[in-house]
Amino acid sequence: NTEEVWRPFNRSRVYMADLESTLHYSLRVEVAAHTVIRGEALISLRNYIAALAKYFPGRPVVMNLLKSVNSWLQNQTGSEISYEAFEGVLDNAAQSPDAALPEGQRWVGCQGSRPHLRRYPCGVWTLFHVLTVQAKNAGGSDPQEVLSAMRSYVHVFFGCRLCAEHFENMARESLTEVSTLSSAVLWLWSRHNQVNNRLAGDLSEDPNFPKIQWPSPEMCPACHTAKTNGDHLWNKEKVLAFLLSHFAANSIVKDYLE
Ligand code: FAD
Repeated sequence: NTEEVWRPFNRSRVYMADLESTLHYSLRVEVAAHTVIRGEALISLRNYIAALAKYFPGRPVVMNLLKSVNSWLQNQTGSEISYEAFEGVLDNAAQSPDAALPEGQRWVGCQGSRPHLRRYPCGVWTLFHVLTVQAKNAGGSDPQEVLSAMRSYVHVFFGCRLCAEHFENMARESLTEVSTLSSAVLWLWSRHNQVNNRLAGDLSEDPNFPKIQWPSPEMCPACHTAKTNGDHLWNKEKVLAFLLSHFAANSIVKDYLE
């Protein structure tokens, strides 16, 4: 059982194996909880897959799979689809020699010290950050495209319903502030830190991966500035530069892929 083998990794890097495992879990497990997908859920799935087909910095085989699933979904004119039909398209696409989504989960940077810690939720955050950074780097036209797709995916499909509710509240409160591709990257970073802050010390925290205000001063010294009264401040310009490089396609480590 590969799940029991600890894979050594660099904590300051992003791993493609986590992103592919996230896609696998999302499309094969989470979406599968909906036998019939219609209305808001169908729109949500469409936008999510469209954003992935556009911005996921995947291997060619994975991109081919996402693109064929995307064109199938865009071509569905009825008011609903069954998960079975969606799964059939995933299976079919994966039968072609140049398209595949690796089976199963192979967590690396998102490994937890216990099986119920980290993993998929960690992968979802990582995927979201990567997509906002890709949209910025690719010069996307709509600053809210990725965040709206993610917001709606979480709202409809994310298995942790309490998380989905919290995230929806944050989005409702301030997503309208996002007016540039850079501010989309920073918005997600700052909301993720809000969540870290709320969850620090919680039962869901992996003791080996404490929730911190991220990135730490060790990871990005320039991101942190201290006021004379001792208050902590972020240098947002430096944070943005750090995020754009940390989550960039060419920074993603390809170790542990099949
Ligand atoms: P995660 O918080 O999952 O982060 C993954 C990795 O991202 C970290 O290891 C780090 O490398 C990097 N990172 C950390 N902070 C940032 C940042 N600010 N910006 C960019 N990168 C960063 N759990 C709850 O118990 N209650 C909730 O309400 C809740 N809401 C959630 C909402 C969403 C949308 C998601 C995706 C998850 C939510 N979770 C919630 C799960 C929780 O946030 C963590 O994902 C989970 O506890 C695993 O934590 P982790 O240690 O792997 O780090």
